[in-house]
Amino acid sequence: MPALNGVDLGLLPTMGVGSYASPSWLTAMRRVLRVGDAGPADMEEAIQDAIKIAVWDQEEAGLDILTDGEIRRQRFLWNVVEKLSGLKLIPAQRKLGVVSYDSAPRFETAERVTAPNGLGIVQEYTYVRTLTDHPLKVCCPGPLTVALPITPKGGYTNGDYFPLLYDLAEIVNRELRQLVAVGATFIQVDEPSAAGRTPSLPIAETVKLFNKTVEGVQAKIALHICFGNNQGRPAMKRTYKPLFPGILDAKAEQFALEYANREMAELDLWSQYGGDRELAAGVLDVKSMYLETPEDVAERIRAVLQHVKPEKLYLTCDCGFSASSRGLARAKLGALVAGAKIVRQELEKR
Ligand SMILES: [Zn+2]
Repeated sequence: MPALNGVDLGLLPTMGVGSYASPSWLTAMRRVLRVGDAGPADMEEAIQDAIKIAVWDQEEAGLDILTDGEIRRQRFLWNVVEKLSGLKLIPAQRKLGVVSYDSAPRFETAERVTAPNGLGIVQEYTYVRTLTDHPLKVCCPGPLTVALPITPKGGYTNGDYFPLLYDLAEIVNRELRQLVAVGATFIQVDEPSAAGRTPSLPIAETVKLFNKTVEGVQAKIALHICFGNNQGRPAMKRTYKPLFPGILDAKAEQFALEYANREMAELDLWSQYGGDRELAAGVLDVKSMYLETPEDVAERIRAVLQHVKPEKLYLTCDCGFSASSRGLARAKLGALVAGAKIVRQELEKR
């Protein structure tokens, strides 16, 4: 039976992937801050209020495991990269037209990259811990993902990514160890770019880097691999095939993977290779504006259960809600919980 910190979670525990939709007023508040009509203390108050709302929405929806909604992070990665020193900002080369992956600024290294004050995720965790007694998951981008907008130049051999990746692995590892020190017991490392780097980065290298990232981290470790979600659009070829079976050498107890947006394709990889690992299956399509009914979700869960033992299955969304409106995100979470309830009842009758 799924359990966390010795607490039985019951069958088919539900949770988000990580990020939750920002309240609309928080977006307005960021604008007010940018033009100088609000100060950092105003912004901090607004962010804390927004985190309370994210927790409240998840509790109200009935999720079993909560996150802080990553409300402090803008566009998933920006506020983490911002904590690194040794980077030179390269403004976005394309600012007009459709917002896409090339609309964000990039960085070049000026020297070896460090994070003198950590990545800020410890503070995210300690704050959300004060808000709820629910089990919590905390998410941190992995080194492949943090490296995405960074080109190694100064401090590194031009164009050689490996020393940069291992510096980032060490920085993330330190953050994860500190998270455990302040009480985190369930940590998810987000590596959407793991899907995109293979085969340019051999899977064995991806796994080696991941295992370095989680080395000595005494917590339940999950690995989230999706295909990217910028404005609801993926960045990669949407297949997990090149990752299997090599990815299972990653020291992760749980894999959080995207299925709903791909019509539940490639579940057979899990029956073939999954073994005794836990699968957190994406059964909510966060990239679609369509609001699933509980029965839609139940149908997807039944499809997953053809390939995974119920006691190894957690239910989640394909990816975070950072590109969704709050109303839709909240409604989708409701459908997730209701769909899980339908299938739990069916399992109990068996
Ligand atoms: Zn994702």
